[in-house]
Amino acid sequence: MTKFKLEYIWLDGYTPVPNLRGKTQVKEFAEFPTLDQLPLWGFDGSSTMQAEGRSSDCVLKPVAVYPDPARTNGVLVMCEVMMPDGVTPHATNARATILDDEGTWFGFEQEYFFYQNGRPLGFPEQGYPAPQGPYYTGVGYSNVGDVAREIVEEHLDLCLAAGINHEGINAEVAKGQWEFQIFGKGSKRAADEIWMARYLLQRLTEKYGIDIEYHCKPLGDTDWNGSGMHCNFSTKYMREVGGKEYFEALMAQFDKNLLDHIAVYGPDNDKRLTGKHETAPWNKFSYGVADRGASIRVPHSFIKNDYKGYLEDRRPNSQGCPYQIASRVLKTISEVPLSGSASVAA
Ligand code: ADP
Ligand code: MN
Ligand code: MN
Ligand code: MN
Repeated sequence: MTKFKLEYIWLDGYTPVPNLRGKTQVKEFAEFPTLDQLPLWGFDGSSTMQAEGRSSDCVLKPVAVYPDPARTNGVLVMCEVMMPDGVTPHATNARATILDDEGTWFGFEQEYFFYQNGRPLGFPEQGYPAPQGPYYTGVGYSNVGDVAREIVEEHLDLCLAAGINHEGINAEVAKGQWEFQIFGKGSKRAADEIWMARYLLQRLTEKYGIDIEYHCKPLGDTDWNGSGMHCNFSTKYMREVGGKEYFEALMAQFDKNLLDHIAVYGPDNDKRLTGKHETAPWNKFSYGVADRGASIRVPHSFIKNDYKGYLEDRRPNSQGCPYQIASRVLKTISEVPLSGSASVAA
């Protein structure tokens, strides 16, 4: 038997953005535990905005498991928060009720800033660094500093070793701003991996004295880009059948549901989706081929391929909840009939 360090990780009850929480229990297993071998566990919900002090127990239900490469015999356990009965999802548990479909693929592009001493990493104590331009995908000390690349590389290796489908990294438009991409088949799978990748990044940067700032417009109304979490998506039907007519019907439904999408695309998005800095205004739906100023960008390959492939919703922001974002995309898709079929499950 081996003693494994199980890190149970969950989302707390803070609004509008939950925090990641985690605590460790050590348990013996013959080999790396499977999901169904992991027991329910509890925590004090009165310290996480999830219960009153007098009846404070909440239950952690393991829903996904990954090796923890930063620890000897480490296990990362993604959990849903349940009521004391262990079966009723807690009100803060967004994951329990989302739509899922393994045939729908999601690619999230998580942008964020490194922050140190209350400002983006590499910003001078007073004022601003040289304006945006050379930082995006940049190289060299004056563009990316001396520590950011070490962190993003280490984060990439941690994610890959944990079995997370990390797909890439780039330095972003603002100084101190970076992005990683996660791809997953199904909303739960992709969203669990975004949360786990966020967790690994936050835990990794502790030792550097650096925080991750996920706010979508941390520098306010300035000439510095905000952070998004573009949601690229494709259903089986979009990949295999598609067509102009279906695409236009889908876009009309996205237009109709504009406010329902914005409601779950992350807080303060009106500060980011202004029409400037490669964004579309939050209150007007648009789509365009290769258009980074549209709500939904249609890749060139999609048109060339007879309106088949994936689309990029550019509106979700860096603080958004990937469970809710993916679920909202699936909901709108489910409302559009498929040509030549009575089924709405795309
Ligand atoms: P850009 O910065 O140009 O918008 P990225 O390369 O950062 O593009 O991100 C593209 C994303 O699209 C990746 O996360 C990738 O996984 C995702 N993606 C690619 N093909 C598909 C597909 N068929 N369905 C869903 N997502 C996809
Ligand atoms: Mn990108
Ligand atoms: Mn980007
Ligand atoms: Mn993008």
